[in-house]
Amino acid sequence: MYKTYPHKTVKKSDMTLNSILDLIAEGIWDWDGNTGHVTRSPGWYRMLGYQLGSFKEDVFTWENIIHPEDYDHVMAHFDSYLTAKIDNYQIEYRCKKADGSYLWIVDHGNIIQYNTDGSPARMIGVHHDIDEQKKAQLALIEQNLLLKNGNLTLGKIVDIKTKELENKNRQLEKKITEIEIISNRDPLTKIANRHKFENVLCREISRANRYQHPLSLAIFDIDLFKHINDQYGHKTGDLLLCAISQLVSDNIRKLDLVARWGGDEFVLIFPEITHEKAYLICEKLRILISQSKVSDDLSATCSFGVSEYRYGDTLDTLFQRVDKLLFVSKENGRNRVHSESEAL
Ligand code: GH3
Ligand code: MG
Repeated sequence: MYKTYPHKTVKKSDMTLNSILDLIAEGIWDWDGNTGHVTRSPGWYRMLGYQLGSFKEDVFTWENIIHPEDYDHVMAHFDSYLTAKIDNYQIEYRCKKADGSYLWIVDHGNIIQYNTDGSPARMIGVHHDIDEQKKAQLALIEQNLLLKNGNLTLGKIVDIKTKELENKNRQLEKKITEIEIISNRDPLTKIANRHKFENVLCREISRANRYQHPLSLAIFDIDLFKHINDQYGHKTGDLLLCAISQLVSDNIRKLDLVARWGGDEFVLIFPEITHEKAYLICEKLRILISQSKVSDDLSATCSFGVSEYRYGDTLDTLFQRVDKLLFVSKENGRNRVHSESEAL
């Protein structure tokens, strides 16, 4: 042991020791293994906020202030040292303070004297306040853990949210498709409805204006459909409407559009087609319809009006013209196509 200075009398060395013990912040303890007496320095009391000398000077004072969660661990470590299973007694634990809170300390001690049987006769130790570092360290560990868990959770949340979003998007797309179908298709015949027809016609009018392309429009109506309904029933009438819709759809270009205008009236848009050509197409369709059969004894005919878009036409003016042409077909005996050139 390094000797700082020699004392000539016990009284002198006693004074030096006690002065030092009174000054230092660490809590010094000195345990007599044979009597069980423990001497504690002023620092020991001050560190924990107790009044100097307020405790019984025995080991139970120490045991009673150890945090219950740390107790077993501290005792096991102490026993291991006393029984020479480990060489070093140094352990971190919490001690109860006067205000009821706990202070993290590191307790470090050495057996400085043994009995002849090898049992400890005296042990001196020191309590060092590590509360700030320990709490900072624990907070850091906790933060890291939170961060780790947080990141994991965040990742999982993002995954779940992405899946949810994808699901919602799919549902949304489905809904949009459904809405588009509902708003653009005739529920009975499944071909375009009036709404869709008007949109397409507006678009085609713009294109015709832009590129100076011809554009033709036709309207056709089932002849004497009322009679068919009366004779075969409304359901068969529906089947006829569907059959004619399908037949016409199958026999026009992709570029063309057939739509149900309402009741037994249908409209056709022929982009880039003159009324002469549209007339021929409608003639072909008229013949196809007249030759087709919904059932063995049921067939129908249709009357057509065909007109070509003229620059400056509105939907109304174009429609009025084509409607008149259909009327002429009906007037002229039905099952015929009447086009503009004939009417002019
Ligand atoms: P015209 O040759 O002059 O056209 O005679 P029409 O009997 O066909 O007379 P009109 O076109 O005015 O009659 C249309 C009929 O279509 C009246 C209505 O009962 C029937 N109708 C309208 N919508 C439907 C439908 O969705 N299903 C059925 N089965 N019949 C319908
Ligand atoms: Mg009719």
